[in-house]
Amino acid sequence: MSTERTLVLLKPDALMRGLTGRIIQRFEDAGLKIVGIKMQQVDADLAARHYADLAERRGQAVFDAIVAFMQQGPVVAIALEGVDAVANVRKMVGATFPDQAPCGTIRGDFAHTSQAHTQAEGKVVANLVHASGNTDEAKYEVDLWFDDGELFDYKTVTEVFTF
Ligand code: ADP
Repeated sequence: MSTERTLVLLKPDALMRGLTGRIIQRFEDAGLKIVGIKMQQVDADLAARHYADLAERRGQAVFDAIVAFMQQGPVVAIALEGVDAVANVRKMVGATFPDQAPCGTIRGDFAHTSQAHTQAEGKVVANLVHASGNTDEAKYEVDLWFDDGELFDYKTVTEVFTF
């Protein structure tokens, strides 16, 4: 069993659409444990450090656009713990472009836009959620967003009682 921690961000569009509770509910329903949670206004420096590799992967224009997008309103940062949490949370979030994210995923259920439409509009794809892409990224991102004192160890009911 591999228990991991991973970072989820509810991006400004999730808060502006009033989806905070419904999205968090999905992670809790799946049995993932919230070990850290906070609401925060992101500045350019934090957005740039969070997306440190994005210019290389997606190009400078996408990097600049997402850094601006992340400052449009507050975000909710969540550290989640669970078995293979990084991969499981990515599966629940779905593909980057919501039209390619299957129904049942967060992006597939709560958004529908495509890469072509986003590009034509010259915008960032508003896809509600960020989730760490791999275990190295998860460690970097949980450390970036949370101080030690903001992360909590406790037992869930399933951990306390063995049925
Ligand atoms: P993901 O969030 O699915 O891991 P990336 O890390 O590649 O995807 O990109 C970070 C974020 O930047 C995406 O979630 C999306 O909001 C935005 N983005 C990435 N590529 C594009 C693109 N080609 N056009 C518009 N927005 C993009």
